[in-house]
Amino acid sequence: MTRIHLLDDATINKIAAGEVVERPASVVKELVENAVDAGAKKVRVEITTDREHVSSIRVVDDGEGMTAEDAALAFARHATSKIRSSDDLVTIRTMGFRGEALASIASVSRVLLVTKPREGDGITGTRIYLEAGDILDSTDTGAPAGTDIQVTDLFYNTPARRKFSKTVKTELQHILHIAEAMALAHPDIAFSLFHNGHERFRTTGTGLFNAILAIFGVDIAGSLIPVSKTAPMIAIEGYCAPIRIDRPNAEGIVISVNARQVASPALTRAVREGYGTLLPRGRYPLAILNLTLDTAQVDINVHPTKREVRIDGEGDITREVASAIADALGGADLAGRRAPEVKAYAPAETTPASAVREARPLYRTGHQHSLDSDMRLRRTGEEKSGDRRRLPPMEVLGQVAGAYIIARTKGGEEELAIIDQHAAHERVLYEQLLRRRAQAVESQELITPLVVPLQPKVAASVRSALHILQQEGFLLDEFGPDTFAVRTIPVVLGRQPDPGLVEDILHDISEGGIVSLSEGKEKITTIIACRGAIKAGSILTPDQMTTLIDQLAHCDQPFTCPHGRPAIVMLPRAALDALFQRT
Ligand code: ADP
Ligand code: MG
Repeated sequence: MTRIHLLDDATINKIAAGEVVERPASVVKELVENAVDAGAKKVRVEITTDREHVSSIRVVDDGEGMTAEDAALAFARHATSKIRSSDDLVTIRTMGFRGEALASIASVSRVLLVTKPREGDGITGTRIYLEAGDILDSTDTGAPAGTDIQVTDLFYNTPARRKFSKTVKTELQHILHIAEAMALAHPDIAFSLFHNGHERFRTTGTGLFNAILAIFGVDIAGSLIPVSKTAPMIAIEGYCAPIRIDRPNAEGIVISVNARQVASPALTRAVREGYGTLLPRGRYPLAILNLTLDTAQVDINVHPTKREVRIDGEGDITREVASAIADALGGADLAGRRAPEVKAYAPAETTPASAVREARPLYRTGHQHSLDSDMRLRRTGEEKSGDRRRLPPMEVLGQVAGAYIIARTKGGEEELAIIDQHAAHERVLYEQLLRRRAQAVESQELITPLVVPLQPKVAASVRSALHILQQEGFLLDEFGPDTFAVRTIPVVLGRQPDPGLVEDILHDISEGGIVSLSEGKEKITTIIACRGAIKAGSILTPDQMTTLIDQLAHCDQPFTCPHGRPAIVMLPRAALDALFQRT
C-alpha cells in the first residue's frame, strides 16, 4: 500500500479555488475578463446582496458565445480556447489563458450559464446548471448571442471561507473597485454595474476620457491633465489629476499594462515620483494610465489571478512613467482655483459685539522684520531661475496677517491671487539649491568658524551625517564634546551666516535621522529651503512682495512648496461671484 495518492478533480479544483477565488470580487474579475476575451462590446454586471453575503454575481456579455460542446468543456480544469502550448504565452493578448477560473469558481458555488455563439450554427443556445462543479442539467434554449453567467451561493460548500468573508459593504467596495478598473483598462467596451437593481456606474465604450467622466464625475474629469508619451519600449496614455485632488492611499492610481489591470508597487511609486514635491508626504495622486508594452516584455504568468506581472526592463519603464507624469504636470497650470466654502458674513447675535472689529487697511507696513526679509530675499534674488515665466504678471495689493500676499493678475482675465509668502520663498530657494546641486554645491569658507554646541542626541546624528553635510556645502569639525565648528556653509545661506539659522538646520537634520545618501540630500535641501525662507509673520514691503512673486513666477513648479503645500491660490472672477452668490 502506498501513502501517496493522486487527488480527485473535485478536490484539485477546490484547492485551486482557494487561490483564484479569494473573494466575490475575484469572481467578478474572472467573469468580466472572459467577457472581454470573448470580444464583447457591452458587459453588464449585476450584483445581488442580502444582509450578510454577496448572494449572486451575474455577468452578461454580447461576445462570441459558446457552442454546447464548448460550454460543457469550459468548466473542465485547464480547459481554455486561448492558448495551445506554452509558446503562446509570449505573445498572449487575452486576459485569460490558464483555463482554471470557471472550474475553480464552479467548484465552490452554483452556476447557471446561458450562451449562444454569435455566428455559425447558432440558432439555439445552451443552458447549463452546475453545483459544486458537477453539471446537473444541460438543455437547449433560446438566447441572444453572447454569454450570460450567474454565480450564486459562493463558498456554500466551503464553510470556513464563507464565514471569513468580510462585511457586504467591504466586498461591494472591492467589486466596485475591480469593475471600475476593468472599465478604465478597456475604455472601448461599454460597462455597467448594478447592485440590487440600482445602477452604480455605466461607461459608454467611447474612449478613456469618457470612461473617467462616467466613473469619477465631471468635476474631477474636467480638471485632469492628459498624459501621453511614446518611447521605444513603451507607449503611455492616460490622465493625471492636478494637485489638491490627492488621497491618503494609492487606490486612485489605476494602471493597466496591455489592457490588463495590474497591481504594481513599482509603477505606483513611479507615478508618485512624477509628482515629486508637488504632493505632501504620504499623499497620493489620482492617475489613470494605460501602458502598452511589447508582449514579450511582460510575464503575466507569475500569479494565479494574474494581478501581478513581471516586466522586463522595469527600471526603464518606471523612469518613463515618472517622466511622462512630470512632463504633463510641468506644462500645466496647477494653481488652486476651487472656490472656498465661505459662509456669508452674519453679524447677528451669533457674533459677540466685542468680536466685531473695525476693518483695518489691507496693507500694513512695519520695519521690524524688513531687514531680515531683505537679506533672505536677496539670497535668492542674485540668481534668476529659468527664463520661462509660469505665472501671469501680477500687481501686489497688500499683505494680510503678515503671511499672505494679495495680488491681482494683469493681462487676460483678472484674478485675485493669494500667495503664502513662506511657502513661495521656500519653493524658490529649493529650486535654486537643486539647480546648484546639479553643478556641484558652492560653499564658502567662513572667516571665523561658527562654533555650535548641540544636544548630545542632535550631535550624534550630525556626526553620522558629516559626509553628506559636506557634499551639501557644510564642512564641520568636531570641536569639543557635542560641539562643532562650522567652517563652510552653502553660498545660498548668505555671506553673514546667522548662527541661529545654522543651528536650526543642524537640529532639523538630526530629527528623524538620515538613512540613505540620496534621501539625506533631499532632506537637507528641503531643510535649508525651509529655514532659509522668509517666515510667516514677517511684514514685507511692496517691493519685497513684488520681488518674491517675480522669483516664484520663474520657478519650474511655482504652485507648491517643497512639502507639497499650496504656494498660490487663484480666485477667478467666477469664484468671487460664487462667494457673493451672484450666480
Ligand atoms: P481562461 O479564460 O483562462 O481560458 P476560463 O476558465 O476563464 O479559462 O474559461 C474557460 C474557457 O471558456 C475560455 O477559454 C473560453 O473559451 C470559454 N469562455 C468562458 N467565458 C466565456 C464567455 N463569456 N464568452 C465566451 N467564451 C467563454
Ligand atoms: Mg478566464
